[in-house]
Amino acid sequence: LVAIALEVEGPGRVVPRASGISDDFFDHDGQITKRETRALALSALAPRGGELLWDIGAGSGSVGIEWLLADPRNRAIGIERDPARAARAKGNAARFGLGSRYRLCEGAALDVIAGLPAPQAVFIGGGACEALLRVLWEVLPAGCRLVAHAVTLETESLLAAWHGTCGGSLLRIELSRAAPLGRRHGWRASYPVVQWSVTR
Ligand code: SAH
Repeated sequence: LVAIALEVEGPGRVVPRASGISDDFFDHDGQITKRETRALALSALAPRGGELLWDIGAGSGSVGIEWLLADPRNRAIGIERDPARAARAKGNAARFGLGSRYRLCEGAALDVIAGLPAPQAVFIGGGACEALLRVLWEVLPAGCRLVAHAVTLETESLLAAWHGTCGGSLLRIELSRAAPLGRRHGWRASYPVVQWSVTR
């Protein structure tokens, strides 16, 4: 509850209680799971108190940070191979006052996950590939929730194949936002995101 009243970026900026907070709470370089899509990720990840998340392809750290905001007992491990983004994710967690419950592992997912404590949920926001899914399926404990997002056709077909074999649910998220079109407005579509969620 402390975190919710925290002021981020100046006075009066209170962090909302629902998942899917504005992107500009996070320092990012454009590689961020956008607010509405992030809300759907958190909904599928379904945090309960005291749980640990692996946020693979942490980027800005936004998903792991919202996981921590969901409950003061939660912990998150972000995994990010890009050094600048890894530093940014750590910095974002610290600005929310969440540094003590957030750990950042810098490196490629396949190289680092072997040594990590077992999670209750895993989010893959980047780095999904056949080899990673195989390893995860092997090491994740029974009952662990796995949620993966795909933007490219290649990752989408990977997730569709795993959905065919392992079940779970596939969701296609297609969002459009009204944007200026000449002197009026039109719907500007974002890339569709495919979400696979499954319980191990
Ligand atoms: N969910 C993030 C955005 C993820 S963008 C957010 O909300 O900010 C995808 C990220 O995955 C990029 O930062 C990229 O560097 C990282 N990535 C891609 N492949 C990876 C891998 N194999 N291991 C770790 N990180 C990876």
